[in-house]
Amino acid sequence: MRQLNANPMRGPRRGRSAASSDNAGFGDHRATHVAQIRAMIAAQPGGDLTQGERDGLLLMREEEKMARDVYVRLHERWGLRPFANISGSEQAHMDMMQALLEHFALPDPAQIFEAGQFHDAALQKLHDGLVEQSLKSLEGAVRVGLLIEELDIADLQKAKRKTKKPEILAVYEELERGSRNHLRAFYRWKEHLGIAYQASHLPQAELERIALSAHEPCT
Ligand code: MN
Ligand code: MN
Repeated sequence: MRQLNANPMRGPRRGRSAASSDNAGFGDHRATHVAQIRAMIAAQPGGDLTQGERDGLLLMREEEKMARDVYVRLHERWGLRPFANISGSEQAHMDMMQALLEHFALPDPAQIFEAGQFHDAALQKLHDGLVEQSLKSLEGAVRVGLLIEELDIADLQKAKRKTKKPEILAVYEELERGSRNHLRAFYRWKEHLGIAYQASHLPQAELERIALSAHEPCT
């Protein structure tokens, strides 16, 4: 296993200092933020969903779970703080999606599955391949992080086009903002390790435009 000394561990970090209260990846700040989103959702009337809206909610709930499950594995394997911190963020995204599923009385595909297990067969296959790639090398792990984030952004953009419901759009915007920040974090590691990456779900220029723009604080 590749060893990293303390300096490169910190090198790619920019902006905020390490959140000491956030070692478990899920601090007070995140819990408060999820509670705010839950309150925002509860204030909306809910109502009937179209098939497209339903498919989007179920997919995004499981896609956030896939991100969390992969990053938990990667933190265990590589010990990089971004993987722990970002897996905590994905847990918050899962919680926001769960709140939407409850709001619209949809069954939760993620509730009954353990880490690394998915209802959606395509997601299961993708997950298994990504885990295999990301356990082999740190470079592979960083590429997997980039791929998960660009896929998430692309799928959120598609899901947003299928709904006009404000609570769904607000959660998708929230998840997309998180994904842009995650993409920026993994891109810094990509640059730091000097590895090549070809976008496969977003246009390459869009990926780079996002990755090289400033971190967005969550509101
Ligand atoms: Mn996410
Ligand atoms: Mn993410």
